[in-house]
Amino acid sequence: MNVFEAVTSFGHEQVIICHDAESAYRAVIAIHSTVLGPAVGGTRLKLYASDDEALTDALRLSRGMTYKTAAAGLPFGGGKAVIIADGRGQDRERLLRTHGRFVHRLGGRFITGEDVGTTPEDMAIIRQETAHVSGLVGHSGDPAPFTARGVFRAIQASARQRWGSDDLAAKTVALQGCGSVGRELARLLHGAGAHLVVTDVDAERVARVVEETGAAAVAPEAIYDVRADIFAPCALGGVVDDDTVPRLNVEVVAGAANNQLLADRHGHALEERGILYAPDFIANAGGVISSTVDILGWEEARASERIDGIYDTILAVFAIAARDRVPTFEAANRLAEDRLHAPAK
Ligand code: NAD
Repeated sequence: MNVFEAVTSFGHEQVIICHDAESAYRAVIAIHSTVLGPAVGGTRLKLYASDDEALTDALRLSRGMTYKTAAAGLPFGGGKAVIIADGRGQDRERLLRTHGRFVHRLGGRFITGEDVGTTPEDMAIIRQETAHVSGLVGHSGDPAPFTARGVFRAIQASARQRWGSDDLAAKTVALQGCGSVGRELARLLHGAGAHLVVTDVDAERVARVVEETGAAAVAPEAIYDVRADIFAPCALGGVVDDDTVPRLNVEVVAGAANNQLLADRHGHALEERGILYAPDFIANAGGVISSTVDILGWEEARASERIDGIYDTILAVFAIAARDRVPTFEAANRLAEDRLHAPAK
């Protein structure tokens, strides 16, 4: 990969390649934008097939954070860190402490939190080296319940747009993924009177949600064929693809997973099939919004109100899509870009 070409095409401000031989630490910290405030983004700890893959992940995810925080109206920019696991059992504490020192040297331009492969406990280790970390146990902690709440609001807004009412009673939701967000979302939907059809590759997680909500369960591959009103992807990215778009038997797609559309053309394909798509980075912003409690000292009530505001943001996206005659994923990008390019207040 030509690094400068990649960085230029993604529009990054700064990308830091980090190395510490003693702790076998290799990482990329990507700061996409600090236009609206310090770059926030999780630290991912993962075994990558190649260094290029790690760099691409950091570049792509950090740009996504810029759009997510801008669209959520937060005074944050976008960043992401990826620590490259070596598969040889690095000492986790040393690795994370080294990472904390690198984050610290950025002087607050980058504030990190948990992500795939890291936990609130890991953030406590990083905190021993730097204050520029959120998502600590005992503070805003696990973001998943906040993310679930935001997705729930996005589903309500989508229901209003599609059926003229927020009411989810008697609606059927096909829910993919019964993990931290999916399980909590299932509870919220059940509380709102929705019927649930759920799946997960982990049978225990499915059983737990079935017990808690009375959901019906299907095999993982069967979730795309379920006849339902709403499909809520809460497991993996890229699930809306050439194979699944024609199979979906729903009117709305709204869930927590990042990068649900495998490619932009799948956003167009949903549109052509008359399926309303609630753009992922708007719907799943509850977690990053909750980090304002740690980072900016917001009262929890203020953060909760902002998470509930995802409802209005989703409706604003639908309005832009109708005004500009573009698919909703494109409208979401426009909303984020408008906020990024607005004069600083
Ligand atoms: P999680 O790991 O707790 O849950 C994901 C679940 O998906 C797991 O139970 C896993 O077994 C299941 N799964 C994996 N492959 C599957 C498949 N092929 N079919 C069905 N189930 C499958 O993760 P989470 O924190 O609940 O996050 C869920 C999604 O939401 C992820 O894509 C994540 O990136 C995104 N997200 C999460 C947050 C958050 O606050 N946790 C915030 C924004 C976005």
